[in-house]
Amino acid sequence: MASALAACGQGGAQAPDAYAIVILPTRTPRPVLLPGPTPVNPGTPIPPPTSPTPTPRPGGQPGRCNMVEIPDGWHISASCSLTESETSAAGPMVCQIQRNSCAFSLLIDNRDPTIRYFREEPPGFNDEDSLMHPAMLSPLTRLREAVAREWGGQYELMVTDTYDSFGDHDVNQPTMAKKYALHFEGRSIDLVTWPVEPARYPRLCALALTAGFDWVHNETDHCHASIRAKSLCEVCLGR
Ligand SMILES: [Zn+2]
Repeated sequence: MASALAACGQGGAQAPDAYAIVILPTRTPRPVLLPGPTPVNPGTPIPPPTSPTPTPRPGGQPGRCNMVEIPDGWHISASCSLTESETSAAGPMVCQIQRNSCAFSLLIDNRDPTIRYFREEPPGFNDEDSLMHPAMLSPLTRLREAVAREWGGQYELMVTDTYDSFGDHDVNQPTMAKKYALHFEGRSIDLVTWPVEPARYPRLCALALTAGFDWVHNETDHCHASIRAKSLCEVCLGR
């Protein structure tokens, strides 16, 4: 789980030289998110997808794009495309936002007490799970409300990663300055349920799509969701 949690993000694109950063210290191994205890009343289990076309079933109302669940491994865009890329749906990464930069100062620190944050980053970076692009605030709040309605408080929304300056994403790219992921702009977020229950993630992803995220990917051990918004680096450059 630890490596897969950090694996989301696309490789291949190169950040502008203006945003090349210093080499950061080697981080400690990321703790593994283990499934939590079974709730006293877990409700109706959501079976894994057995058909390529999700269909409405008891326990889940169809939402955006008529999706009840986003099956394991699937991604979907706000235009209801199952093939559209994240870059097309949410826009390309423009920069890696550096800590203590102009763009960094524009990130929102979402301290919603009803959202859990994993906060496994080392000292100096453990505020990053709640730092995000301001445009993420509304869909994330709607998703938190949807999770509460869906599972009646038995499962809560947990954020395991949002903004990242440490290089937790695009793990196959060893050079930090060449890493590519919208997490580096605070425009992607990694979501799980608490207690951890991967069988809920297809439904969680569908709720994220309905909540207003522009591209949602069920990465099986978490739900990755991204927003289309103007890069904060561009905002700072006055573009
Ligand atoms: Zn992600």
